[in-house]
Amino acid sequence: ESPEGRKMLELRRSLPAYKEKDALLTAISRNQVVIISGETGCGKTTQIPQFILESEIEAVRGAVCSIICTQPRRISAMSVSERVASERGEKLGESVGYKVRLEGMKGRDTRLLFCTTGILLRRLLVDRNLKGVTHVIVDEIHERGMNEDFLLIVLKDLLPRRPELRLILMSATLDSELFSSYFGRAQIIHVPGFTYPVRTHFLEDVLEITGCRLTPYNQIDDYGQEKMWKMSKQAPRKRKSQIASVVEDALKAADFNGYGPQTQESLACWNPDCIGFNLIEYLLCNICESERPGAILVFMTGWDDINSLKEKLHANPLLGDSSRVLLLACHGSMASSEQRLIFDEPEDGVRKIVLATNIAETSITINDVVFVLDCGKAKETSYDALNNTPCLLPSWISKVSAQQRRGRAGRVQPGECYHLYPRCVYDAFAEYQLPEILRTPLQSLCLQIKSLNLGSISEFLSRALQSPELLAVQNAIEYLKIIGALDENENLTVLGRYLTMLPVEPKLGKMLLVGAILNCLDPVLTIVSGLSVRDPFLTPFDKKDLAEAAKSQFSRDYSDHLALVRAYEGWKVAERDFAGYDYCWKNFLSAQSMKAIDSLRKEFFSLLRDTDLVDANTTTHNAWSYDEHLIRAVICYGLYPGICSVVHNEKSFLLKTMEDGQVLLYSNSVNAREPKIPYPWLVFNEKIKVNSVFLRDSTAVSDSMLLLFGGSFSKGTLDGHLTMLGGYLEFFMKPAIAE
Ligand code: ADP
Ligand code: MG
Repeated sequence: ESPEGRKMLELRRSLPAYKEKDALLTAISRNQVVIISGETGCGKTTQIPQFILESEIEAVRGAVCSIICTQPRRISAMSVSERVASERGEKLGESVGYKVRLEGMKGRDTRLLFCTTGILLRRLLVDRNLKGVTHVIVDEIHERGMNEDFLLIVLKDLLPRRPELRLILMSATLDSELFSSYFGRAQIIHVPGFTYPVRTHFLEDVLEITGCRLTPYNQIDDYGQEKMWKMSKQAPRKRKSQIASVVEDALKAADFNGYGPQTQESLACWNPDCIGFNLIEYLLCNICESERPGAILVFMTGWDDINSLKEKLHANPLLGDSSRVLLLACHGSMASSEQRLIFDEPEDGVRKIVLATNIAETSITINDVVFVLDCGKAKETSYDALNNTPCLLPSWISKVSAQQRRGRAGRVQPGECYHLYPRCVYDAFAEYQLPEILRTPLQSLCLQIKSLNLGSISEFLSRALQSPELLAVQNAIEYLKIIGALDENENLTVLGRYLTMLPVEPKLGKMLLVGAILNCLDPVLTIVSGLSVRDPFLTPFDKKDLAEAAKSQFSRDYSDHLALVRAYEGWKVAERDFAGYDYCWKNFLSAQSMKAIDSLRKEFFSLLRDTDLVDANTTTHNAWSYDEHLIRAVICYGLYPGICSVVHNEKSFLLKTMEDGQVLLYSNSVNAREPKIPYPWLVFNEKIKVNSVFLRDSTAVSDSMLLLFGGSFSKGTLDGHLTMLGGYLEFFMKPAIAE
């Protein structure tokens, strides 16, 4: 035993979960389902799977035990497995491993596997009884992610078939009753946590204490709006969510009479639709200049506003001085090198500031945090089933989330939490967030239900913890029929079965399959990889025009997708001369995304080989890879029915979809810079409602292309058309793999 080993053991034993070890193990041995709740940081994720592993090793069943612990996000699966392996003094891939989409580290002796929920669902596809698995731990169930809710239905069905299998559910909040009653009054074990007191300041107190003043000009405009290009002069109609109007009413009724005149003036200028970058900067400077040590955690809504804020702070003489401040970002797609820095203690005299999404609320614990700044928002997907449109809006968090954020400040000593909104707004928050299954499109979920042979989609979903609305289910089924993945009777078609073998959205899977069949895989791999990572085209806040001009250099033919292909190919050439980074810098491209595309391409290619559509000897440079017309057709085939018509007027053009009427383009689309589009249609990858409906990544297509590779708006011809296309595919593809 090394000194580090002993120190680590001591550290582990000091965690609250350790005190409950025996009770936990007894409960798990006596019950098939156990629910564990405990405050974030108490040691659920890192310790409980180890307790089970160690007790199995002691009981000499170690060699045969197999523990799977699911995480909602790949980043937590990776970082947690690394942490657990190092706590055990091992390398990753020995007794502890991980597996996330397209990546993993797992050896012959791996007994504890951390994986994303999606990976376990894929495993159920080929191994419906989870043969050999002894324990399944589903972590972070309080988040109510769609995959987790889905997995719980499947596991509930599995339990009677596998009486010796143990299911452990872990939650960071105390509302475990719902889960317990879902599993027939399963036992709940609570791990009491300990946090130091955290002093809470709402906006009015922050203004009063710091003397910071808000003016109408001192807030950054809603960053979402900033980035978009408005086709029409008329202001987009604002559709307020229910919670937004509750917040507005609360503000109207608020009484700030006890506060000074400056504070009252500032509060009158406060805009609930904005995140006050200047206020954050001011507060950060205040804290950094104070004597009190400790890291600062700032909760933002997403990757884009984190980056904008980071740039702004870098320009500040104090916060941008790397000898005094270590400025880090923490979000789902950060690089793993950056990930490790988040946990490290900075050098003496250097203040660590972490700008994070709600990933730092419960799944990642940063130990030395003493100050928390909470903007009160998170980016939340929602789904408007009536218009069949997904929405992505920064929206107000729940009370439970706000409490979680506050708790992050009291890990090592008493802390301070600054909520950057008034107390009356907090009082108007909902208690809990709506589960994801009730607020997202269900296409991929429905396809998975079919591929797992779980019977009727709507019957299956009626057995969820909370069932999605019928219309949302019908929309998803209708979509899968239109794209040819399901037949009229809701059975998987040959195409559908191939799609379930690719871990991407159905539309991207379609592109890969047809790209392979039509011998033009090379650019298609780039496009699909590009659409699966963060947009590689960067649009920095203050260099928006330059960045958009840089992107349009790659555009020749009214297609964001083809622009991406050219950008990637240019990068490949530059990379050969070790100039990839320069190339990215000059062209406003993310080097990280380019590298991710490069490795995803290889992964997708090898997955396609597994489907037998690509034979082992072909390289990606197929005969037709350079035919841009053909690539355009493949894009059209994949993205249909994501389509809008181009209507020209004297000066410019308007875009319309069937469901939404007029729609707009994101300003960084190459098509947004064109005065005219000499094609009647755009196919698009994604539409999102942010006040208005915006399209992301579009490609112009002709009538004939749409007819041959998409379909027509008239149902009759559409069906006929798809039957024909389906016929071709059936002809070219080998019969589905035997069950
Ligand atoms: P929970 O799942 O209950 O929120 P965890 O098991 O994730 O708690 O974390 C328990 C403790 O382990 C945390 O309080 C933190 O101190 C420590 N910890 C977890 N991950 C890391 C890491 N990657 N580096 C350093 N410390 C960590
Ligand atoms: Mg955890």
